[in-house]
Amino acid sequence: MKKKRPTNNASAFPLIVCTVFIAAAVSTGIALYSRQQDISNVRASVLSETDTSDQMLVLVNRTHRITEEYSGELVKLDCGKSVDSRIYPELQAMFDEMRSEGIYPIVNEGFRTKEDQEQMMEDQINAYIDEGYSRKKAEKLAKNIVAPVGSSEHELGIAVDIIADKNLSDNETVYNWLAKNAYKYGFIQRYPSNKTEITGIDYEPWHYRYVGKKAASEIYEQGVCLEEYLDEN
Ligand SMILES: [Zn+2]
Repeated sequence: MKKKRPTNNASAFPLIVCTVFIAAAVSTGIALYSRQQDISNVRASVLSETDTSDQMLVLVNRTHRITEEYSGELVKLDCGKSVDSRIYPELQAMFDEMRSEGIYPIVNEGFRTKEDQEQMMEDQINAYIDEGYSRKKAEKLAKNIVAPVGSSEHELGIAVDIIADKNLSDNETVYNWLAKNAYKYGFIQRYPSNKTEITGIDYEPWHYRYVGKKAASEIYEQGVCLEEYLDEN
């Protein structure tokens, strides 16, 4: 949920391997599951006013924090990113369709542990301190950019940041395709440009959240954000 624009700053190679592995894992289920043995289960629970029996509709934001007891199983990609196994088939199907249309996306971010989220915050604070800010001021500024622990959807494993494989596609093409089609695969653009006052997060054309096909279609057709949708339902 960070506001900074994700970049392809890591070498492109492992990210390409990542997309290749997604394809390989589907055709060879054995390889996929043997990899899962290396992955610890995610345990967290979300306590919120909008708690619902459908875990895919859990609301996570700065006022609805993850606490404990959410459980899921992660699929680890070769690029090092992981996603909840429940969103994996649709993510794969979506990537397959994009590639068949000559568009090449990559998962730039998937699941983050609490520790990952804490580290992101600490790194951002240190970046501000390096710029000459006091620790106190740096902490305040960092909170505007990095989601505090428990308030990032990435901690649920059902949100992904999708950008272009920059050697083959450009971000705008990927973002445009996702905006028009991701709902068909159960994903919503979680932080639209016209909902920043409700979500509290700047426009993020790369951040997609899985909610399931029914909810995603309704959210897309109604032109609402998740906060509005859950209020209505
Ligand atoms: Zn994100």
